[in-house]
Amino acid sequence: MQYISTRGSAPVLDFRGATLAGLATDGGLYLPAEWPQLSPELLESLATASYAETAFTVMKPYVQGSLTDAELKSLIADAYGDFGHAAVTPLVQLDHRQWLLELFHGPTLAFKDVALQFLGGLFGHFLGAKDRLTIVGATSGDTGSAAIEAVAGRPGITIFMLHPAGRVSDVQRRQMTTVNAPNVHNIAVDGSFDDCQKLVKTLFNDAAFRTEYQLSAVNSINWARLLAQIVYYVHAGVRLGAPGRAASWSVPTGNFGDVFAGYCAHRMGLPIHKLLVATNVNDILARALSAGDYSVGKVTPTATPSMDIQISSNFERLLFDLYGRDGAALAAAMQGFEQTGTLKLSDAQRAEAAKIFLASRVNEAGMMQALAWANSECGQLIDPHTGVGLAAARARAEDCEGPIVTLATAHPAKFPDAVERATGIRPGLPRRVGHLFDREERYEHLPASEAALKAHIRARA
Ligand SMILES: *Cc1c(COP(=O)(O)O)cnc(C)c1O
Repeated sequence: MQYISTRGSAPVLDFRGATLAGLATDGGLYLPAEWPQLSPELLESLATASYAETAFTVMKPYVQGSLTDAELKSLIADAYGDFGHAAVTPLVQLDHRQWLLELFHGPTLAFKDVALQFLGGLFGHFLGAKDRLTIVGATSGDTGSAAIEAVAGRPGITIFMLHPAGRVSDVQRRQMTTVNAPNVHNIAVDGSFDDCQKLVKTLFNDAAFRTEYQLSAVNSINWARLLAQIVYYVHAGVRLGAPGRAASWSVPTGNFGDVFAGYCAHRMGLPIHKLLVATNVNDILARALSAGDYSVGKVTPTATPSMDIQISSNFERLLFDLYGRDGAALAAAMQGFEQTGTLKLSDAQRAEAAKIFLASRVNEAGMMQALAWANSECGQLIDPHTGVGLAAARARAEDCEGPIVTLATAHPAKFPDAVERATGIRPGLPRRVGHLFDREERYEHLPASEAALKAHIRARA
């Protein structure tokens, strides 16, 4: 399988190359040159498959030339063997049409584990004995802990994770700072999340530093993360009737990674009626898909911080198809967007996207109502991100056919305050992570200074 850049001028890479590169050198994102097909017979054969067996079937054509069958099977077993549920991503029925797909049974209780547990294993596998990699990231919550869990203790990899001091929740901070591995370095920065992100960017923009320490990122632009996320659409879709029946999916969306994985499943032949892009009031995607207006606004902080975004980096992957896979045309459009903060979709592009995508914006009251409904009508506690998805799924049920599956992206105990406000119940952490508050924390404090951060990394990498 070959991987091409959405902006058309970066080198074509194999799976290993695309995984290690992350971003393409022309500023674009990597995509497979073609979509492998899941025939109806193949989908039927997955009816009684385990999650690992479905993962192997879905991923195999994408990793050809970079992994043997045995290597892929072993990476899948390592990534999903430790999940807290035997089904890995269980389906839960809410009413006659509404379902939840629980993606939060990984080590940090958020769906990012599904992708990052696999990516961590891939990095470990693809690095040679003498190679080393320094992962530097900034986090406002979920990504940091999932990335740390994915690489803790792996030889050749060192991770430095920056978080804004005093501005992440206790659970989120402890999930990062109580991981006791010598290659994990947490840094509390005196500043905001934006300050953390700017610091990380300055390191990546310093070519000499970047090369000397083999800097790498684990953000959602990495194709291998999306690949791991296609699997649960196929696995749940078959359980709900594919290939004979199509389901619709409501996806709490920030960077457009999770819902784009659903689009990939659709392009591979999984029958899907609609993909519902559920956003909070930071609604750049809802505006783009409903009105053709992809333009950056100001971020409003909400109870769903993982969806508080200005720019959805993975949207470029959909734009690539909407521009007829013309990398040069998309590169020009993205340059315009980077300068002006605005990109207009044509009516034809909007109509093309509307064949499969619907969009819905959910405000705080709508999200809280969904949490209350799930608790009172179904005895189910859900987190606020999932609540945005479920609110959209219920509001747009008439525009969807088949069962409607809301992706449950975080465990309710990660956001106990909002859950308690909506339901009166304070969710407890599952027993397997309940020791979080007994363990010693390890992190260092730094000012928001490039020089201090570089000195810190030099002393430890
Ligand atoms: C990251 C995240 C999202 C958004 O997913 P994208 O792939 O960025 O669209 C939604 N919910 C939770 C809990 C997350 O951590």
